[in-house]
Amino acid sequence: MKKVYLDNSATTQVYGEVVNEMLPYFTDIYGNANSLHKFGRDANAGIDKARDIIAKAINANRDEVYFTSGGTESNNWAIRGVAYANQKKGKHIIVSSIEHHSIIDTCKDLEREGFEITYLPVDETGMVSLFDLMQALRKDTILVSVMSVNNEVGTIQNIKAIGETCHQNGTLFHTDAVQAMSVIDYDVKDMFIDLMSMSSHKIHGPKGIGALYVRKGVAIKKFMMGGEQEFNRRGGTSNVPAIVGFGKAMEMNLQNMKEYNKVISNTVEYFVKKLKYSIGDIEFNGNMQQKAPSIVNVSFKYIEGESVLMLLDFEGIAVSTGSACASGSLEKSHVLKAMGKSHEDINGAIRFSFGADITKDDVDYVIDKLVPIVARLRDMSPLKKKKTRR
Ligand SMILES: *Cc1c(COP(=O)(O)O)cnc(C)c1O
Repeated sequence: MKKVYLDNSATTQVYGEVVNEMLPYFTDIYGNANSLHKFGRDANAGIDKARDIIAKAINANRDEVYFTSGGTESNNWAIRGVAYANQKKGKHIIVSSIEHHSIIDTCKDLEREGFEITYLPVDETGMVSLFDLMQALRKDTILVSVMSVNNEVGTIQNIKAIGETCHQNGTLFHTDAVQAMSVIDYDVKDMFIDLMSMSSHKIHGPKGIGALYVRKGVAIKKFMMGGEQEFNRRGGTSNVPAIVGFGKAMEMNLQNMKEYNKVISNTVEYFVKKLKYSIGDIEFNGNMQQKAPSIVNVSFKYIEGESVLMLLDFEGIAVSTGSACASGSLEKSHVLKAMGKSHEDINGAIRFSFGADITKDDVDYVIDKLVPIVARLRDMSPLKKKKTRR
């Protein structure tokens, strides 16, 4: 059966070059990177190289990049670490209402501990308003966290303007850049970013590895006790193969970003045109003027996204529904809800997330399968029947 993977926002395929770069670190260069002998030094050299690649990619210094177990840990650490280290200055934190659960849930937890959290609203395209941010900022606001690219709808925020606004207020600015590494050409200094979360598996690297950028001088509590690793802030024996793979993935991401985004934009444009032509009563979610090219979020009226997902799965096509990241969870998307979408539009939302490997033939196949699936589901839909009877 043909297979078409349109779930690149959930995770990506590891590049062969990345796997090859990692392999020797399982077999020959297996030392503990903290050991002083040659086995250790060789492993450590792999880490150094990866750290340099990542630091350079975002215009940071190498001692400002900390390896973590992924985007989730980076987000947990950034929010909690800054909150605890700065609570003498204030206990107010501002985040957008469309953040990843690793931010939102950490904030909910901090609320129970006496911190005050402001959840910034977004408009119907998922954009945070700079004016709302200015209104919300206070003297005791210690941290603002706004994601660069939303993982469900792809909306890109005006990160530099947000960073500058925080900077003027003397407030630290963190951004979850996990979905943005293949979209935005980062310069953390130019963009007033104090902390930034990254993840390897969203850019064709291995899972379970990521990084947190922490600008020098930012007060943040240690993440893990028990070792001197990661400049004495995140203990635990380093996952050398994963770190090396992350470095290689980042290097390839930098090299390919422009070209791949052009390819993806072309394919997505073709897909959107065909979709609009073939299926009526659909609505595109997100900011069409400022969006990650790979993410297409569409609400199919009158039907359930989960049913579409399952029937596409039978045809070898992988997509996500409204509540994308917690796959398997049927919880309604807090992102689409914050964008003011109706109950019906949220239920009928599907996220197609493209990679550069998707061809127009793949798109033709997807549309060929999707059209009858949507028609069949709509025929059975009580919502649809009500509407047509009118
Ligand atoms: C995937 C994702 C995360 C979590 O990253 P992991 O490395 O999977 O823990 C965080 N934020 C966003 C926006 C994501 O898309």
